[in-house]
Amino acid sequence: MKKFIVAITLLSVTWFVLSVPRVAVAGDDAPLVRTAPAFPDILVGTQRYSVLRGDFHIHTPYSDGKLTPAERVREAWTYGYDVIAITDHRSFEAYAEALPVAKEFGLILIRGMETGLHEMEHLVALDFAADYAPRDPHSWADAEGGPRVYYRQQWRKLTDAGGFVLYAHPHVGFNGDGAWAAETGEPLDPPLRHRLREPIQWALAQGLLHGIEVRNHATDRGWGTVRDRGTLWFPMALDWADEYGLTVFANTDVHQARAQDGNAHEPQSATLLLVRERSPEGVMEALRAGRTVAHFGGMLCGRKDMVGPLVQGLTQVDFRGSSDGAGRVRIENHGPVAMTAEFRGLDLIPVTIDAHQTALVELAAAPNELSIVWTNAVVRSTESLVTIHRRTP
Ligand SMILES: [Zn+2]
Ligand SMILES: [Zn+2]
Repeated sequence: MKKFIVAITLLSVTWFVLSVPRVAVAGDDAPLVRTAPAFPDILVGTQRYSVLRGDFHIHTPYSDGKLTPAERVREAWTYGYDVIAITDHRSFEAYAEALPVAKEFGLILIRGMETGLHEMEHLVALDFAADYAPRDPHSWADAEGGPRVYYRQQWRKLTDAGGFVLYAHPHVGFNGDGAWAAETGEPLDPPLRHRLREPIQWALAQGLLHGIEVRNHATDRGWGTVRDRGTLWFPMALDWADEYGLTVFANTDVHQARAQDGNAHEPQSATLLLVRERSPEGVMEALRAGRTVAHFGGMLCGRKDMVGPLVQGLTQVDFRGSSDGAGRVRIENHGPVAMTAEFRGLDLIPVTIDAHQTALVELAAAPNELSIVWTNAVVRSTESLVTIHRRTP
């Protein structure tokens, strides 16, 4: 009887393996469906940019993540990402494993790894050379002379290998004095300004820090994030990005499956990139030039020089007046993100224009110039994007 059961089990396992479509996530034989809220191309001056959705902070079993590199690619594809980096702690073996699957799916894959200082700042490194040989990854010492590698030496080695370095979840681990606070579960007392420790200050001064996360799913509760504009993020990082010219990221840092309970941030955060070319080189060129906008919690969040062109590329505002002094504002939203417009100085309720919708607002008395505050387009911790529109007859 036992033998019989074993035979049946083997048979059914064989049948299952054979019947699973090649593209299925493990244990799920349903066809994969991609939900990609497509962004139109954006014209800035004469330059045309494609807008890609990226996630540059992902874990697999090469560290403490649950899904294999191949499953991460399939998952990212179904969630509408165009580009990802798998960034395991201390390891970048996932890259080689995921690359053929990424090619099959048309997903851009960037080599990545999570590293940084011993029990302190976490860094995500992208696009370093394949022969980069990390020493004491994630365990760099912040003082010279100990058994572990001095951070300055290893940080430089990483950037010399072509590495693009971003400061992951910069809110984790620090209380107001800049000391390590670990998992206290206590939110930090905002505002936490310019409490960057010496290693980050040094890297900024040397030009060796290139980006920063303003949003990270894995550390969104009790890790020093701030509840602001209805979501948990780290607004101060946006100010740092602005002040130090860092590329802005919203990454998931996903460890479990994205669909898992307690991990289902819908929709998933994304780093939007304005790329000239849809390729790994095009992605890295955009990252190095800082052409990103963090998209999470219904917000478009980034440096003004990036959020401005993106919002102006996604929307069209037509402001007309008539001879009797009345006016009309027509706002078209050509993008997949709902936009909320507030009319500065006018006694009007703000209007939210959903994806691919048009709003028409009648004004009894039209000013010569209209200032629109895009409340969900955030350019500093306390500042939204403002666009000015002249009245045309
Ligand atoms: Zn981390
Ligand atoms: Zn991580």
